[in-house]
Amino acid sequence: MKIPFNKPYLTGKETHYIYDAVNSGKISGNGKYTKLCQNFFESQYGFKKVLLTTSCTDALEMAAMLANIEPGDEVIIPSYTFVSTAIAFIRQGAKIVFADSYSDNPNIDAGKIEALITNKTKAIIPVHYAGVACDMDKIMEVANMYNLLVIEDAAQAIDSFYTGKDGVKKALGSVGHLAAFSFHETKNIISGEGGMLTINDERFIQRAEIIWEKGTNRAEFFRGEVNKYGWVDTGSSFLPSEVIAAFLWAQIENLGVIQNKRKSLWNTYYSGLKAIDSLHFNLPIVPNYATNNAHMFYIICKDMNYRMALIEQLKSNGYHAVFHYLSLHSSDFYKDKHDGRALFNSDNFSDCLVRLPMFYELDVEGIQNIIASIKNIN
Ligand SMILES: *Cc1c(COP(=O)(O)O)cnc(C)c1O
Repeated sequence: MKIPFNKPYLTGKETHYIYDAVNSGKISGNGKYTKLCQNFFESQYGFKKVLLTTSCTDALEMAAMLANIEPGDEVIIPSYTFVSTAIAFIRQGAKIVFADSYSDNPNIDAGKIEALITNKTKAIIPVHYAGVACDMDKIMEVANMYNLLVIEDAAQAIDSFYTGKDGVKKALGSVGHLAAFSFHETKNIISGEGGMLTINDERFIQRAEIIWEKGTNRAEFFRGEVNKYGWVDTGSSFLPSEVIAAFLWAQIENLGVIQNKRKSLWNTYYSGLKAIDSLHFNLPIVPNYATNNAHMFYIICKDMNYRMALIEQLKSNGYHAVFHYLSLHSSDFYKDKHDGRALFNSDNFSDCLVRLPMFYELDVEGIQNIIASIKNIN
């Protein structure tokens, strides 16, 4: 039987809530379902304020606007990430200073950030790859020392946590000043396209609501805090319609079930592949300070040729495995703007990392077949 790389999971209630939203007569944004979703995330994960957005890319754009990024400002971003992490800041005129990953894990190497800071640096953007936390203590420490903002790209990191030196377990997206999540159909919980901005530094809450609603103080008006609303700042139309929020609400109701299933699939992969004890690849590493939300199952091949052979072998059995990011510092768009530093670890993940099928409806038998197919390569 064929196994796709991803299959969006529907809980069954999506169209029910969408029907309700459509028939309520309030279909534009910031209605009942938007508030249900936002309140859930705030109370479940301790975010000070949540605003649903039409994508994670949009949430990152809002964060770049809130951070007042201006032409010439520098922003530190891992090279091994999705385009959106960089593009949100590029649109504000920022210069991107690309950082390398650890050698054994694609997250930004927190120990090497300080050397990249100049008097133009405004923000650090850690990306929690595969939903596994970056070293947030180290990142917050260097950010505080130089008075920089930390904006987490938590696109893949729903329901994942970080335990700092103080022993407190915090949800990813609640540690930095701001964070962005995605509900794209490839993520753990979905709304087709969708995302959210989380705001943990209270200084940004009021302005975030204004930027969210086209530069107007509409949100304050509807709470009765001002008696008319008008144009007060820059902004855009970042809020999703109630139709999207209704879809997301059905997913949220099943978050626990979805997460348990994904984690058990992840563990099946991990123990099965560990038993092969292959010299050709390494398994993912989850540091002690991080949890695993089973967003992704990847392996790191020892070389590019083995990765090609593995993808081909799986394909011949009908199983779809895919590689991931190409280092952004050597992209067509940025290579002439990059300062020339070699980023070996990022390039290594570009060449050698491969993601295996991972979705709610995958089953143990499917994973066993995939593992058997990998065994057959050598
Ligand atoms: C998925 C993803 C994004 C983009 O999310 P959208 O909701 O599609 O805009 C950004 N960054 C990372 C790391 C992602 O995985």
